Amino acid sequence: MIGAGGLGVPVLQYLAGAGIGRLVVIDGDRLEASNLHRQTWFALADCGQPKAQLAAERIRALNPEVRVEAHALRLDAGNAARLLAGCDLIIDCSDNFATQFLLNDLAHELSVPVLLASVHQFEGQLQVVDPARGSACLRCLWPQATRDGVVGNCTEAGVLGPVPGILGSLQALEALKVLLDLPGRLGDEVLLVNLLETGMTRVRAKRAKDCEGGPCGRAAMALNDARQALETMPHGSDGGLELDFDDLAQAIAAGYVVIDIRAPDESAADPLPGFVRCIPMDEMLVGRNLPAEGRYLLVCSRGVRSRSTCEALRERGIHAAHSLRGGVQGRTWPAPRTTYL
Ligand SMILES: [Zn+2]
Repeated sequence: MIGAGGLGVPVLQYLAGAGIGRLVVIDGDRLEASNLHRQTWFALADCGQPKAQLAAERIRALNPEVRVEAHALRLDAGNAARLLAGCDLIIDCSDNFATQFLLNDLAHELSVPVLLASVHQFEGQLQVVDPARGSACLRCLWPQATRDGVVGNCTEAGVLGPVPGILGSLQALEALKVLLDLPGRLGDEVLLVNLLETGMTRVRAKRAKDCEGGPCGRAAMALNDARQALETMPHGSDGGLELDFDDLAQAIAAGYVVIDIRAPDESAADPLPGFVRCIPMDEMLVGRNLPAEGRYLLVCSRGVRSRSTCEALRERGIHAAHSLRGGVQGRTWPAPRTTYL
């Protein structure tokens, strides 16, 4: 799931309700009050929180048997292939062209179907790009990748809440059709929806000749860039993302800078030993500059926020960012000894 916004909310609700096994939710945005009319799963009190995190909490509350992986970061050519590895279906709810074209190309690269949806004012469209089944891809229809800003997205152009809600619901239905191999799924066509006139049309979309047997020509170039970005990442940077320590002082002794990323009121209610630095997650994510060569152990209450923050830091080149497994909730800490300070 790329995007936990207006389109993503209904998709996530229905997939979690259906008891899907594993959901990977990627969204680098934080909830704003202006999102709430179309993202009614969230609450006013949640504003400022990363949407990926909020969605993961809601999914767990709805169906604790679903395994959720939340990534509070923006999908890009450098991290996409790694984040999406092992998924059976990629669902694009980003509502931006750059992401859609990137995912379109990954559908070829990973041989995984991608379910694309977009919304513009009262209209929307839906397309399944499934190269293994010979379907047309986004570049077959639009050889010149559309730049963002040419057509307004929900934030810029404005949209009534139910419009992305309906498109997202259709997307959830199509996702279940693909995953359960039900008949009637979208093939070589695009579903056009006009909600002002309340009509739906399936339009035939023909696959381009140079798309057969691989992505369209332009896609190959973009994939090369993505592959190069992946190759320049240090090997094994995923290893040891989560670490176990019985005593945070041990982490200090082992050379880690320990950072409490909880919100200030949480840290005040459940303080950690004095040698722990407090930098809230918000601040960590919006470009707090940490020396890239440092070793960091991030802690939060349950180890979920610290894990996704570490992932974001690693994207930024801080490769020795680690997360305390399970977080600090319910733990008691020995009094710090001055030797560790
Ligand atoms: Zn194509």
